[in-house]
Amino acid sequence: MVKNSIAVFGLGKTGRALLNFLLKKNDFSKIYLYNDEVLETSNNEILNYISLGVEFCFGKEGILQIVESADLIVLSPGVNARSKRFDIIRDKGIRIISEIEFAYSYIRNKNIKIIALTGTNGKSTTVSLIYHFLHKSGLDVVLAGNIGNPFITEVENIKNDSFLVLELSSYQLEDIEDFKPYISLILNITPDHLDRYGNMDAYLEAKLNIIKNQEKSDYFVHNEDDEILNKIVINNVTKTNFSLIKKSANSFLLDKNVIFKLNDEKIISLKNNPLKGIHNLENIIAAITAVLIVGLSAEEIEKNLGSFKGLQHRMEFAGSYNGVEFINDSKATNIDSAIKSSMSFDEDMVIILGGKDKDGDFRLLDNVLYKQAKAILLIGDAQEKIWSQFEQCREKSQKINSFDEAVSIGYEILKDDGGVLLLAPACASFDMFDNFEDRGNKFKLSVEKFINKMSENG
Ligand code: ADP
Repeated sequence: MVKNSIAVFGLGKTGRALLNFLLKKNDFSKIYLYNDEVLETSNNEILNYISLGVEFCFGKEGILQIVESADLIVLSPGVNARSKRFDIIRDKGIRIISEIEFAYSYIRNKNIKIIALTGTNGKSTTVSLIYHFLHKSGLDVVLAGNIGNPFITEVENIKNDSFLVLELSSYQLEDIEDFKPYISLILNITPDHLDRYGNMDAYLEAKLNIIKNQEKSDYFVHNEDDEILNKIVINNVTKTNFSLIKKSANSFLLDKNVIFKLNDEKIISLKNNPLKGIHNLENIIAAITAVLIVGLSAEEIEKNLGSFKGLQHRMEFAGSYNGVEFINDSKATNIDSAIKSSMSFDEDMVIILGGKDKDGDFRLLDNVLYKQAKAILLIGDAQEKIWSQFEQCREKSQKINSFDEAVSIGYEILKDDGGVLLLAPACASFDMFDNFEDRGNKFKLSVEKFINKMSENG
């Protein structure tokens, strides 16, 4: 059946995936692609879309065209439908949904168990771990969402009776109508993206959409140690909490075991844990709670934990020389993640901070790093702001211009007693790099060059 006209907002990875899906399905009479920024329409990719019937609209004029012509708008995560320039679309009452809601509409009648996860930090690590446990146990499972694989790309591949593990950012949860996971998880809520939301309430509201349509037969797994999450009152869903400290939680840590109590009790040993850092214990306990709800056995989980390879750019070992270890945590793009990574080491530590500020409050790091760090190397746009917000840490901070410089200065500081040089910038990467991966790769390159040079010299 051919429906009405549809407009995709944003030509990024998700926008392209939506266009490809729509062109294949041919469900809509007309497809528009709206992008704020005017794009070069003579480029081959766009010419190809135009030849297949996609109409491109840009900027202010494009919005007017959409108001005239579109019946449904599907958003890429980067597009904020609440911004003022879209008021005219909202006033006209055109339906606006997220890509997640749109993709969900195609699978909602299949028997698919959705495990959807959000949180400020740890999302990619935890969904990858959940995927790993399910996959290694021989179950049919697809991993999609914010992890770099748009949900819409997988819609046609998901089989009945399989599992879908979705990583969701707050942006993706903004325009949800019916999306309903079987298990939802919120790992933590700490300040991030305040440049988009303005305040924490709006950020939390977006994240909580993950449970909006859940029922008592569904589960909501959340972090009892999180000050915001443990106060939330929710009755529509079966709540299951986890904690690193509170023994009253459904899943908690005791010595090196996870104790899980829901209907019966299960004990999972973490002796095979391959990941560094307290924050990863949080991620592991969350993932284990989810897969225990699904019904995996303690034996399977224990065995398969050991073969999980952590993700690149998250506490990734980048090399070592003469007792100094280099750790790439480029994905630590906000204050809380940098705090958690810096607290993961007992040995001497020098930290590299800075990048593009996201309206972060670096005073929160001042106290922690005063105790945790031997020295602080400041880089990028946020350099001055961090310097001015530091009080206790200022005297052990210095401004640097490149990773090459950071690696050799860090090494000099640490070489006598050994220790860790940690890249955990607490900022986005877009001031000097394409993205966090590019930043992490450049750091690893500087480390490699440094180690080669030192080894050659002797
Ligand atoms: P996300 O997908 O939410 O950005 P990742 O798994 O990619 O999360 O981890 C991003 C960074 O966040 C890591 O590099 C680490 O510094 C930090 N981190 C990971 N898990 C947690 C957690 N549970 N709490 C706080 N910080 C975390």
